[in-house]
Amino acid sequence: MSETSDGTILSSNAIAATDKAGNPIPVTIPIDLAPGVRVVYTTRLGGLSAGDWGDCNLGGKSGDDPAHVRSNREALAATLGAPLSLVGQVHSGHAIDADEAMRRNASYGSDLSGTLADPARPYAGDDDEEIETEVEETSETETIASADGIVVAEETTVVERAGHVGSTANADSAEHIEQADADHFPMLQADGQVSSQKGVALGMFAADCLPVLLADPDAGVIGACHCGRKGLQRGVIGSTVELMVAKGAKPECIVATLGPCICGDCYEVGDEIADEFDAQFPGTFTLTRFGGPGIDIAKAALQELAKAGVPRERVIDSAPRVRAATQYLDHDAELADLCAKDGEGPEDLAERIGAVRHSLCTLENPLFYSHRRTSLAHKEHEGRLLALIVRQ
Ligand SMILES: [Zn+2]
Repeated sequence: MSETSDGTILSSNAIAATDKAGNPIPVTIPIDLAPGVRVVYTTRLGGLSAGDWGDCNLGGKSGDDPAHVRSNREALAATLGAPLSLVGQVHSGHAIDADEAMRRNASYGSDLSGTLADPARPYAGDDDEEIETEVEETSETETIASADGIVVAEETTVVERAGHVGSTANADSAEHIEQADADHFPMLQADGQVSSQKGVALGMFAADCLPVLLADPDAGVIGACHCGRKGLQRGVIGSTVELMVAKGAKPECIVATLGPCICGDCYEVGDEIADEFDAQFPGTFTLTRFGGPGIDIAKAALQELAKAGVPRERVIDSAPRVRAATQYLDHDAELADLCAKDGEGPEDLAERIGAVRHSLCTLENPLFYSHRRTSLAHKEHEGRLLALIVRQ
């Protein structure tokens, strides 16, 4: 920053708010988890989505305009300098090897999330830049090409491969890539993904559920998992770590961080659910600020990480960086506009941010999408953030 003679402040490092095509660039919160390993949380800011999905919805299942979702994902991949790897999250305990499952089927990367495709470009990638990361096909992975050239993994092979992944906690969930129809991307059901490739961003959608990002920087293995109440109970953290270990990681060398999620003071559930959860994860029962019983999913995740052999001192706290980003954006015009219009809390940005007690809490922090906050506001639709991890 420098000051001119008339007192005008000039920014010497102005950040472009739009890309070359004039589209907004996602506002993200980066965390350097380990040397060469970056974690990124997206926010509601910097995208084309409007209304209940505003502005940077990355989820493709909640009725948002598919062209907007695609644009937001393309801008995110460009920001990261890496293609995204997306899967269909179903609150399972199952993790997959993204190096085997990835398909180059979208302009922004590999979309196996089963989301609504853009009618204008149902399977994108036709005239888009090639994704540099090659998915190596082995003799075990037979593939079939559909009429339009989209490669979809042969179903039984993937099931076999999923089997050896050893998702012991959730053997009953159906893990396979479902053939896409004209309107949807193919779907691979999984709530954890791992990779040993550089330059691939493993992404997990969330809007109150907890994303957990992991890396063994020495072994060059990364992982991401989606931990809602059920996913935690079904052992998704253990499955993800187990699969990382199968790719050469050592649990004691894994660094992890917990992304934004609904906090124990806000996540109200019924008595029965809270009791059941607390029986599995002792000490996670809470009395929420709404007066009822709740659960602390982040606390349960820490127990699961410990159980999987990840040392507590290697769990990095994302809160300081997220808190700083929140404070940095406390005069942000776009965030002020979202808060004024979203009907999900005080219209005034300062008041909204002033009420945030836990910066990582998706319900409290207006930077993030929150399923519970939109439900409390009686809204029909909601957006999704992505928590991502990429090796550089
Ligand atoms: Zn909270």
